[in-house]
Amino acid sequence: MNNRCNECNYKFEKETGFFFGAMFVSYALAVAQMILSLVVFWCFIDFSPLNVFLIITVVTILLSTINFRVSRSIWIFLFYKD
Ligand SMILES: [Zn+2]
Repeated sequence: MNNRCNECNYKFEKETGFFFGAMFVSYALAVAQMILSLVVFWCFIDFSPLNVFLIITVVTILLSTINFRVSRSIWIFLFYKD
């Protein structure tokens, strides 16, 4: 991850451990994705509980790298000041 924005030189990590809170954003995203997967694959497609569990596990692992970036972006956005 870059230390500063290439366009406007905004410093991303304002203090040590600034992104600690992004962990909670990431957790919220993961839970939302798990619930969404549950609704789609169990209620709409009607897979068995074991298959739904496996699908949710795979979806969560695959999306974790995306969540890592997105949660940091959201965290920066929450504290962004001009
Ligand atoms: Zn910028």
